[in-house]
Amino acid sequence: MFEQVKLGYDFAALEPHIDQLTMETHYGKHHAGYTNNLNKALEQLPQLQGKTIEEILKNLEAIEDAALRTAVRNNGGGYYNHNLYFQILSPQGGQPPQGKLAEQIDSDFGSFENLVQKLTATAASVFGSGWAWLSKDPSGKLVITSTPNQDNPLMTHGGQLTPILGIDVWEHAYYLKYRNMRADYLQAIFKVIDWSKVAEMYLEA
Ligand code: MN
Repeated sequence: MFEQVKLGYDFAALEPHIDQLTMETHYGKHHAGYTNNLNKALEQLPQLQGKTIEEILKNLEAIEDAALRTAVRNNGGGYYNHNLYFQILSPQGGQPPQGKLAEQIDSDFGSFENLVQKLTATAASVFGSGWAWLSKDPSGKLVITSTPNQDNPLMTHGGQLTPILGIDVWEHAYYLKYRNMRADYLQAIFKVIDWSKVAEMYLEA
């Protein structure tokens, strides 16, 4: 049984950048739904019992039944992606990272500001529902990508990328407060991204 990550903050804690009702709905309905549906699908796949969600998502082709494979891809992706998303947000966010991640950002993107600009542009250009990602490759290099729906970098690049930051650009992540203004949401989300957590993810990846 997979369980949603526990939030380290209240639903209202990210106000005014991310509003309370969006957080309640996003965590309590959307993320809970993906988690329940993943667990339901896995009841029919006893051979996957004991595997981590990362192992499952990197090996979707091991699921022979097409409908079950799609269910695990969509709901397992939704489960994993939101666990990451909610973990890297914090009311104390917005401060640039330090240490090894900061050095890698400077080396790969020139500056933190350039990284934020590239991530923002990538997230803005996702057509329809999807995600923008910052991942670490096996050499330690940082890579920005985007995926449709609830796909993620574990499912691309031969499973070589480890996501360390995910930006949800499904409308449910911002529509209650920002309506069609995805660009405003993207400006706001960077004020609550906890780069010290992202730096931790980078070291662990
Ligand atoms: Mn979402």
